[in-house]
Amino acid sequence: MAKLTPQEAGKLYGGRLPKFDYDGDAFYDEVFALALQGQSNAQIAANLADKFGESLDDKTFSAMINGIYIGWSKEENARRSARLLDRLTHAREKLNGVVRASYLKGALGGKRTTSRVSAYLKTRCLCEGQDPDCPECGGIGWIYSKKHAIVQETETELPPNMQALGTWLSVHDKEWREMKEQYKIELSGQVQTDAPRVKVEMVYVDTKDLEIQETRPQDFAGNDNNDKKAEQS
Ligand SMILES: [Zn+2]
Repeated sequence: MAKLTPQEAGKLYGGRLPKFDYDGDAFYDEVFALALQGQSNAQIAANLADKFGESLDDKTFSAMINGIYIGWSKEENARRSARLLDRLTHAREKLNGVVRASYLKGALGGKRTTSRVSAYLKTRCLCEGQDPDCPECGGIGWIYSKKHAIVQETETELPPNMQALGTWLSVHDKEWREMKEQYKIELSGQVQTDAPRVKVEMVYVDTKDLEIQETRPQDFAGNDNNDKKAEQS
């Protein structure tokens, strides 16, 4: 039996034309594409119009997905519903993977190139820019050497996003959840990025001569303890 065109098939449904060719690929490809954009079933039903000029009612589309659409035979419902579910599921799994990768990249932080500057070495042309028809420089007076390019890259270190890491671990790491419960770990979302704090003291030995003493926090803690011991004894 030759394949029916949508128009021919429409006649089977009391002359009402189906809006889409539910046995071709285009309809399912578009459902996949819209789901991959993060659209809900209702949004997909409405936004089919972007490509096809026709949309589906939200309830109709739901019935098609669930294989209970009255306009389709039992066999059509089973086959087309399976196709729709397959496309929707695959699109959403794929999107989850993309979002997850992006989320983790942001959570983990790390190096990223923020700017890239390229410059070419230039030499003065013999014409000194006096000859507008100069074949060497085209009249600008400078000859650029592409063999001697200077590329300057600026890299910045992104700090890890503690809140995002904590959320990820809470959802995906059972041991972490138990540990968090046990030790009542509180995530503040604050990131401690600076090195151990250093207190700088200036001691004037001479008016012209400044000596800088660096003292680490633990030294102060040690001093405090000594003071307390001194008080106790
Ligand atoms: Zn020149």
